[in-house]
Amino acid sequence: MASVKSYGATGEVTGSCHILEIDEKTIMIDCGMFQGLEEEMNKKAFGFNPKEIDYLFVTHAHLDHVGRIPRLVKEGFSGKIYATSATMDLAEIILHDSAKIMSEDFQTRYRKVLRKGKTKLSKPMYDALDVEKTFEVIEWINPEYDVYYELAEGISFRYRNAGHILGSAFIEISYMEEGTSHTIVFSGDIGNDNKLILPALAECSKAETLYVETTYANREHQSIELTVEEFKTTIVETLNADGNVLIPSFAVERTQELLCILREMYHSGELPKCKVFLDSPMATKATEVYRNYPDELSKKCQKNIEEDGTVFNFDSLFYTETPEASKGINETKSRAIIIAGSGMCNGGRIVHHFKHRIWESKNALIFVGYQAEGTLGREILNGAEWINVFGEDIIVKASVHTINGFSAHADQKGILEWMASMKNLKKVFLIHGEKEAQEVFQEVLHEKMSLDAHIVKYGEQIEL
Ligand SMILES: [Zn+2]
Repeated sequence: MASVKSYGATGEVTGSCHILEIDEKTIMIDCGMFQGLEEEMNKKAFGFNPKEIDYLFVTHAHLDHVGRIPRLVKEGFSGKIYATSATMDLAEIILHDSAKIMSEDFQTRYRKVLRKGKTKLSKPMYDALDVEKTFEVIEWINPEYDVYYELAEGISFRYRNAGHILGSAFIEISYMEEGTSHTIVFSGDIGNDNKLILPALAECSKAETLYVETTYANREHQSIELTVEEFKTTIVETLNADGNVLIPSFAVERTQELLCILREMYHSGELPKCKVFLDSPMATKATEVYRNYPDELSKKCQKNIEEDGTVFNFDSLFYTETPEASKGINETKSRAIIIAGSGMCNGGRIVHHFKHRIWESKNALIFVGYQAEGTLGREILNGAEWINVFGEDIIVKASVHTINGFSAHADQKGILEWMASMKNLKKVFLIHGEKEAQEVFQEVLHEKMSLDAHIVKYGEQIEL
């Protein structure tokens, strides 16, 4: 008997966590953090016993897929973790950063509590030590893409390239039941085939049962060609007018995509004279990981390596790691492109650059990623004329550009094309998406593929 119970990414896009039980074996697929409006869910009890999980399969290193692993370990998980080697490397960076953010946030809130004459405040979900334990005490196994592995008697699995971020995978798990073999597939997050730095998502012919992400299942992305063109035009126009370009960016994948585009512009002569600063220690570390996996990058990136031995570098690019180097950027008064975190501007070095540059009309701010409700990024996107930065009101005079189409997720067309390769598909379960997107996609699957998909609810157990 096999069943799946879901403890996250049900009717929302964060907190991915599913438990597959096959006979006596308990396999967890992802243990992600809840983010944004769902954040409070991280404080809740898991709803299952971490000690009873035999294996944790990780699809990729985004926080909403790995963010609760140190807590799982802290609460008794002692099984094995399976993740591609690149996912493991990126997860280590991401989880350490997550522990740091939680600790800083705790310190700030604790000071406020003390000032109110109180002393009680619940501790962060985990700290740096818990993250270290997760990598040192727990055994990590790094499956290769496309290779079949036997997990236990009658259970085998295969990681396939999901083309979402470096190391990302969808996972096929096969098991025997009454003499017949069955295959269930967990999509993780599947990529938008933009060919910038990753090869395309692999086909999946084996799925009989599919748990599929639906982040953009009701949308169609703008083409990547148009997206890149818009990005280039904004950069060229701003630099030619002696302005500076500010780009809040996520450290993993988006930053590396931008570096690739800028590198190409530099070599083709399209990039006006300028200095490009990657002002994010975390993005610099993540970029290093990308460099370590040349075989997993697109043909285009591999060509870069053939040309000059690097994937992303070019003469005008500077990595500013220390706080001093970051402050030093202020000496470049014009023609600077600054890529910094956080991606949604709710902290990080980008906010300092706002203070120094957002009040000048010659400068441009380019949004290349999603800005969630309640973040400074969203405030600016919504047309704020003033922003408050470090207690100071600052006028927004820089031009604000939103460039859609850089998404790391497949859109409706992309998901449908991927599903079209599944010839034996019988059961479809929708996860990792908002209710609205899932309802639209449910209809589309019914009409186009004659499939009756089920929208998974939190805590729901599904017998396969
Ligand atoms: Zn993801």
